[in-house]
Amino acid sequence: MAKVPATELDKLKKRLYRKEAELEALELRSRAIVDNLAIGVSVYDKKARLVVWNQQFLDLYRLRTEDIRRGTTFRRVLELRVTANTHVGADAGGYVADRMSAVGEARRLGGTHRLNTGEVIQMTHQPLDDGGWVSTHRDITEVYNLQAELTHLAYHDPLTALPNRTQFYQRLGQAFARLAANGGSFAVLCLDLDGFKPINDTLGHAVGDDLLRQFGRRITAQLGPNDIAARMGGDEFAILLGSGTVASAMELAERIRSSLERPFECLGEVASVGAGIGVAVAPDHGTDLDQLLHSADLALYAAKRERKGAIRMFETALDAAASGRRNIESALRQALENGELHLFFQPIVNLEARRFAGFEALLRWEHPELGNIPPSTFIPVAEESGLIVPIGEWVLREALNEAAGWPDYIKVAVNVSALQLRRGNLVATVCNALAASGVASNRLELELTESLFMEQSAQNLETMRQLRDLGVRFALDDFGTGFSALGYLLAFPFDKIKIDGSFVRALDDSPEARTIVSAVADIGHRLGMETTAEGIESAEQLRNVHAVGYAEAQGYLISRPMSREAVRRLLDGAFDRMTDEPMAAALLTDDDIALQAAS
Ligand code: C2E
Ligand code: MG
Ligand code: MG
Repeated sequence: MAKVPATELDKLKKRLYRKEAELEALELRSRAIVDNLAIGVSVYDKKARLVVWNQQFLDLYRLRTEDIRRGTTFRRVLELRVTANTHVGADAGGYVADRMSAVGEARRLGGTHRLNTGEVIQMTHQPLDDGGWVSTHRDITEVYNLQAELTHLAYHDPLTALPNRTQFYQRLGQAFARLAANGGSFAVLCLDLDGFKPINDTLGHAVGDDLLRQFGRRITAQLGPNDIAARMGGDEFAILLGSGTVASAMELAERIRSSLERPFECLGEVASVGAGIGVAVAPDHGTDLDQLLHSADLALYAAKRERKGAIRMFETALDAAASGRRNIESALRQALENGELHLFFQPIVNLEARRFAGFEALLRWEHPELGNIPPSTFIPVAEESGLIVPIGEWVLREALNEAAGWPDYIKVAVNVSALQLRRGNLVATVCNALAASGVASNRLELELTESLFMEQSAQNLETMRQLRDLGVRFALDDFGTGFSALGYLLAFPFDKIKIDGSFVRALDDSPEARTIVSAVADIGHRLGMETTAEGIESAEQLRNVHAVGYAEAQGYLISRPMSREAVRRLLDGAFDRMTDEPMAAALLTDDDIALQAAS
């Protein structure tokens, strides 16, 4: 072997030192990099022995510096993590075995794990060419929690913490997928609170909010583990009954109804609410999401029409009725243009003065093929479709034009829908119609029904105030059939209460009706409002309502609604008996009080 000269040896040694120094510098730099990373790093060699790691790695898993050194085995590291409780899951042995086999597979791995200590760690595992691997560990607890919170927000109603509409649709979609795969059936219940808005309006939003929360809890308490209740918005809720048959869904609806019988105590106030419930069962009542919800909605709609707190199962007749309503709607659009609508007028008499006080305008629709369609059929359709706004405008103009030809102490009453108050420009419409007819504003009385008179009370109130400032009068129609009638009377500026005819007609055989009829007269008296009794059909009813203090009466006994020509003849006849006293012009005889024959 050739001898290397000393000078050469020195050179080689120097080069070696330089290389070592470079390597050391490199290692120092790498260390600095690894130590300053925001994430935990661990590098193992092919024998699964730790070669590189940083403080962050130790901190994440609560490992002690003195327990870890170069060469510590992966298994040992895992065992130390088990001791520190920074492993994943309850089964420590299983966890260690699982990780050992995972790193043995020599492929890229990664995932997010929640440690037993609560932190969420995002991990990557990258095999190295030399048979070892490098893994990174990042604490993403905060991001993860934030994301979870955002997801929760996206799928839950913040007020009640119930699932929201988005989640409900998602779960409903899953239920349909299960149905397609496994068959069976499930049910959807749509719920809508009765009388929520007046409570919200009169007792305040804080009470309303609390009521909704408690309502959510009460219905949820009735559910099984596979069912969900969601708030769909406002005071609408829906329930998905995971494995519902017709019978079990109706049973649940009944349970919910009775759970709502007990009043709610909200922030010191006591509130009673029920709910209308519509039920539909898949696949019988709908084979997709939209169809099933539509069926449940139709059933709910039918329940709401029936009475407060009613429960209705979907039936095909409801669908037919809905398409019937659509037919009516399109025919009604034509009716105005085609002149198929006209007004009848029903006299209202003043019982003290025994004279006509005014006439109520009642809409009539004579369809060319279907004949007379009653208002009870088409008014609701007109309200739902918004057609009531232009129709109502026409009624106002027409009624006022007719009243212009009557003696000027005779009032005209016009029915107005809540929608007109809300959507139509009622103040302008009324002003225009008054101006066009020349009728004095104090001869116009607008009748509002309490059942429809529920929403946006502040705006309604403002519209009413403006009209009253003009001199227009307001009557609360069908009193007693709607919601919190008394609350409305106090909150809104009515001049008159019209007690519903159903109470008057029940007078003959219901002592309860007698109590209500006279109590309403009393309320009117105390609040300084006039009272009118509607639906008087017998002389005895007339005597009764007069005796308990009603100022005015209206009903078939006096006259059925009559055509405008009949009204003119009637008023002319009254004038024929004119005496010196102008106010006596329309004095009614006993015969007049029963005008039946004239109509
Ligand atoms: P309403 O305003 O309470 O009108 C009184 C209803 O009771 C009328 O029914 C009238 O014909 C009926 N009636 C009067 N006296 C008696 C009686 O002695 N016995 C019985 N059984 N019924 C009597 P109609 O004309 O069928 O109207 C029904 C409802 O339709 C009205 O109830 C009103 O709410 C609505 N309506 C009628 N015309 C209009 C309108 O132009 N606009 C709006 N928004 N609603 C209207
Ligand atoms: Mg009326
Ligand atoms: Mg009425």
